[in-house]
Amino acid sequence: MKNNHQKIAVVALGGNALLPENQQGTFAEQQANADAAAEVILGIVGSGYEVIIVHGNGPQVGQILAQNEESAHKIPMMPLDVCVAATQGTMGYMLSTALQRAIKESGIPKNTLSILTNVVVSQNDPAFQKPTKPIGGFFSREIAEEMAAEKGWQVVEDSGRGYRRVVPSPQPLSIMESEAIRELALAGNIVIACGGGGIPVALIDGQLIGLEAVIDKDLASSLLAAEIGADLYILLTGVDQVAVDYGQPNMRYLKKMKVSEAEKYLDEGHFPPGSMGPKIKAALDYIAAGGQEVLITSAEKLKEALEGESGTYIVA
Ligand code: ADP
Ligand code: MG
Repeated sequence: MKNNHQKIAVVALGGNALLPENQQGTFAEQQANADAAAEVILGIVGSGYEVIIVHGNGPQVGQILAQNEESAHKIPMMPLDVCVAATQGTMGYMLSTALQRAIKESGIPKNTLSILTNVVVSQNDPAFQKPTKPIGGFFSREIAEEMAAEKGWQVVEDSGRGYRRVVPSPQPLSIMESEAIRELALAGNIVIACGGGGIPVALIDGQLIGLEAVIDKDLASSLLAAEIGADLYILLTGVDQVAVDYGQPNMRYLKKMKVSEAEKYLDEGHFPPGSMGPKIKAALDYIAAGGQEVLITSAEKLKEALEGESGTYIVA
């Protein structure tokens, strides 16, 4: 049960925050990134919130897929939902040990734990007819066509960098473990949940089945924040603030947006589909479901943003 003083923050960490493009992805690199993320998370705890972390897994699930692909002649390949589950384990482990270290140093009386999270989608989601989300390695056209024929993959040319497998990205409908996640957070644990957007599952003829898809972590974290009634939903990403006319000479950073303004700017095309668009939609969904406040900012500026000195707030 929530007492009167308790506030819950759901924090979505971009996949790139834990493995930037310019890194190889060694264990030492990922561990160092997790340590930095842990410091940032403790800053939120320090501001008086019970914290639930949702991390992306784009680069990491890509690496697990590549391992599967490389060794397919020796070890049977695992379906994509199993690979997503694997990243919840590896990334949950790295983040939670980093948090344990940071907690120990700070003396904050908290524990941390990581929850394998299943997210229900519809097997009839139109995304299954039209896969759009590129994952895994880049292939030559020849290899890509071979994979398409052999494994039934759908492949696309990805912005001049080569061919990639695309998978469905269905709408998350509900999170199976949200009640437990909420209770664990209220009991004083820092909870890592819904990693990589969650493991996509569907109830098919009353049976729980994993599906080969990836769920957008912005949409999944928004749903989690709504389901548990979070007081604050934070999206940490590569920019300090959201802008209109992003990247243009007349670019203007926004300190605060009302829902109506966010909707208007979204309609006007200020927030593109593959990057800021899903975050703004995630923010609007959360508020539409009864949420109060969303903060979009970078890890570097989070502390200032929590004090109202940076970041972009979207409010009901
Ligand atoms: P994440 O890995 O956190 O999901 P994305 O790259 O998907 O990050 O989305 C965040 C990026 O969107 C920012 O780093 C920025 O480069 C870009 N972006 C696009 N439009 C805007 C905008 N209007 N304001 C701020 N950033 C924007
Ligand atoms: Mg993104």
